[in-house]
Amino acid sequence: MKKSIIGLQTGLMKEYYKYFSKYAKGKLPEQKVAWVTAFTPVEILEALDVLYYFPESYAAVIAASGKEQDLMQISERNGLNRDCCSYSCCFNGCLDVEDGPRGVPPRPDILIATNNQCDTLPNWWNVLSEKYDVPLVVIDYPGEGMNREEALRYVTEQHKALIERTEELSGKRLDESRLSELIENSKKSVDRWERVCAYLPVKDLKPTSFFDDINFLITARCKAETSELYELMAESLGNTEDAADDRLPAFWLGYPLWYHKDRFLSECLADDFRITGSNYITWWNLDYSGSDIYERLFSAYNYTFLNLLQETRDKKLAALIKASGAKCAIVLHNKSCKCDFVSAKNIDIMQAELDIDMIDSSYLNVDRAGVLTGILKEALCTG
Ligand code: SF4
Repeated sequence: MKKSIIGLQTGLMKEYYKYFSKYAKGKLPEQKVAWVTAFTPVEILEALDVLYYFPESYAAVIAASGKEQDLMQISERNGLNRDCCSYSCCFNGCLDVEDGPRGVPPRPDILIATNNQCDTLPNWWNVLSEKYDVPLVVIDYPGEGMNREEALRYVTEQHKALIERTEELSGKRLDESRLSELIENSKKSVDRWERVCAYLPVKDLKPTSFFDDINFLITARCKAETSELYELMAESLGNTEDAADDRLPAFWLGYPLWYHKDRFLSECLADDFRITGSNYITWWNLDYSGSDIYERLFSAYNYTFLNLLQETRDKKLAALIKASGAKCAIVLHNKSCKCDFVSAKNIDIMQAELDIDMIDSSYLNVDRAGVLTGILKEALCTG
């Protein structure tokens, strides 16, 4: 039977959420369970049949369901300061009350954190490991600061240690050809997602679906269905209307606003600006190049965008902005994520800088955002 976009999306979602408490109804998974950060080499876990869940992504789902304020208040009462990253405040609140829009993910047997996006995550995972009293693995990715050969050796040792640990946990032996196949799946998912993203500058599209659909590249990047889904999406977008040129092309620089129905400030932007690009939707476009499985995993996870030197980030961001055709940027000064905001420091187009948080809606002052985007529009139209 021919697969459809909706069918593939539903299948992937069902698979991911089936052991969350709301759907599992007390049924426990047969496989072991890992809770992982967004840039964990999940191909290793998939190859060893370990289930993996992403607390950051679930925090976004919680905010999209409008439950984040209550849960952040609860986690604050239980000792997690609201100045911490809102993903952690929101998710931990959900654990505290053992409830969320889809319940809670199955209890972890292992926690795996990486430092290739920020230093908050290993600290948050420490808090989780105290709560659950299970082993914590932290993978250190030195990024561009270390010579490539040394870094490859250093990271590969850690990937091999993770494989050993996961073999012990799952009681299975790694089949390297299976791992290679999964890495190839991830690469295909990235290639096809890039084709999807290439339509944002030229078609009349809201960024909303891009912000939501990238979720599959995060939670299911090495599953064959993800690349099939993106293939179909690219085909379908190819048949949509080209964009009219009457609105100002703008680059959305920062996270989606998960609590917002459109995930971006449509009330201030939709009439005057058209979002033609976003750095967030490219973050999981990992580069799986290399001569063997270890080099491919190293290339992908050591050189994530937030783990690059400022100079490289500047160049990448400049290229993205140029490809988007944007004449201005909406830059989010994110209360949770300083490392993301720093990415924006050297862009050379006009920008409106908004104080905001991707989860905590109380940080958004819509009137002030409207004034700032209004000034941006005026400056562009009169400049
Ligand atoms: S939002 Fe920023 S600080 Fe929070 S976990 Fe993600 S990268 Fe780290």
